[in-house]
Amino acid sequence: MAYDNDNIFAKILRGEIPCHKVFENDDVIAFMDVMPQGPGHTLVVPKAASRNLLDADPAVLGKLLPLVQKIALAVKEAFTADGVSIFQYNEAAGGQSVFHLHIHVVPRHEGVPLGR
Ligand code: ADP
Repeated sequence: MAYDNDNIFAKILRGEIPCHKVFENDDVIAFMDVMPQGPGHTLVVPKAASRNLLDADPAVLGKLLPLVQKIALAVKEAFTADGVSIFQYNEAAGGQSVFHLHIHVVPRHEGVPLGR
């Protein structure tokens, strides 16, 4: 499927709508999820235009995972979490609702389930 420039994360990347940004470099932006599944739910979004993991340039993916690790460690510490859930959805059938590649990073505490 084609990449749609009007998706909400493309608008955030272009600065057309606001976000609560927690990290940015040349390759990615990370910001807080507006409907978090737990405190500290953060989205890591590559700046390169890809719809999801399935159509992403492997070079983009190669830079992405170390940054996901860095952000996961930071949110784990910031939210004094016991662990971190990292997940990613592809296409509507795979649970995706925003069609620009992003990785969910959610700090987790012992005995506390995910939920909105
Ligand atoms: P799902 O909606 O099933 O989690 P995705 O993996 O596509 O599927 O996740 C999109 C995420 O983007 C959701 O967690 C949603 O809360 C979040 N979101 C939607 N709009 C915004 C926004 N403007 N700013 C921050 N997060 C957003």
